[in-house]
Amino acid sequence: MKELQSKPINVTEAFLPPQEEYQKFINEIYRTHILSNQGPFVTRLEGSLRKHLDVPQLSAVANGTLALQLALHQLGLKGKKVITTPFTYVATLSSLLWEDCEPVFADIDPSTFCLSPEMVEQTLRYHPDAAGVLPVHVFGLACDIDAFANLGAKYGLKILYDGAHAFGSIFNDKSLLTYGDASICSFHATKLFHTIEGGCIITQDGKNAENISFLRAFGHQWENYKSLGINAKLSEMHAAMGLCVLKHVPEILKKRAQISGLYDKLLNIDNNQWITRPKLVAGLQWNHAYYPVLFKSEELLLKVMNKLKQENIFPRRYFYPSLTSLPYSPKQACPVADDIARRILCLPFWADMAEEIVNKVATGVLQSL
Ligand SMILES: *Cc1c(COP(=O)(O)O)cnc(C)c1O
Repeated sequence: MKELQSKPINVTEAFLPPQEEYQKFINEIYRTHILSNQGPFVTRLEGSLRKHLDVPQLSAVANGTLALQLALHQLGLKGKKVITTPFTYVATLSSLLWEDCEPVFADIDPSTFCLSPEMVEQTLRYHPDAAGVLPVHVFGLACDIDAFANLGAKYGLKILYDGAHAFGSIFNDKSLLTYGDASICSFHATKLFHTIEGGCIITQDGKNAENISFLRAFGHQWENYKSLGINAKLSEMHAAMGLCVLKHVPEILKKRAQISGLYDKLLNIDNNQWITRPKLVAGLQWNHAYYPVLFKSEELLLKVMNKLKQENIFPRRYFYPSLTSLPYSPKQACPVADDIARRILCLPFWADMAEEIVNKVATGVLQSL
């Protein structure tokens, strides 16, 4: 109990597989001396992920940010105008800018927190030269897949999903990462499935995947210098961690759903006048990548944060501030996103979270409402 009081409770705690499982793979790496360059562990991880997610093509890369950049590159969006959401982690925007794209913000849907297809269509009237859309399955919640597919077909736009949070979310019986012209995922330590640092690009056809295999490794294989590339390779140590974590994903998903249910119950979420939760679209089996709560007002959010801080509890304001306010952002008003960014808080949440910690956080929240 004493330890419970002294150790800070952060927004999440990275999942670590049993040490002996990882050690077994590390021993293998010590035996072969293969540390990188698309070695056996990366190849095995890619195969396992393809099977797990039931996707035809999947390329592992060093992180989710590079996954976004290579996907933009491969879809021909480099230097083009791309419509995206301001309610996301900064990497969605920075990857666009780093690839010389011109980001244009459209507002989000207030119930799902995801980019609104209606707002994208309105934005297209002022930006008919847009070449792509970069929606984000924020918190693992699903964008309106059908509406974006229709927009893509109607206006000839590439749809690239930032699925950094979407591992384990299922939409219409398929992984949420299977949709669009391409999807990316982040395998960062704080994400539901991780390789410590890492990420992947999921594409629909083999041609894209083959090009990406060049792009991520300096643009060449042996003496075949095919294109300009970069170094976005995943290491063997990282891939080995991924193989260990992947085995535990079913149990991670189950535990997260349970803890989320416990929070719902403790916070009396169905009848709580101060807090609301995001809406799940029909057909979505949510991965519970986060536990976001939307407060009635920013004042209330700050009051709760202050109270929790006294208890050594540190939720995070994902995602605040709205990206519309960054110094290098396009100057565009997105009133819904700006408002939600001010009122949303992600409570501490991870698979192996002890029930008494959930209790402690929920009690702290309720006491300050
Ligand atoms: C984490 C994250 C990324 C970047 O992934 P990294 O693996 O950390 O580079 C991109 N987009 C979103 C929405 C994220 O949360």
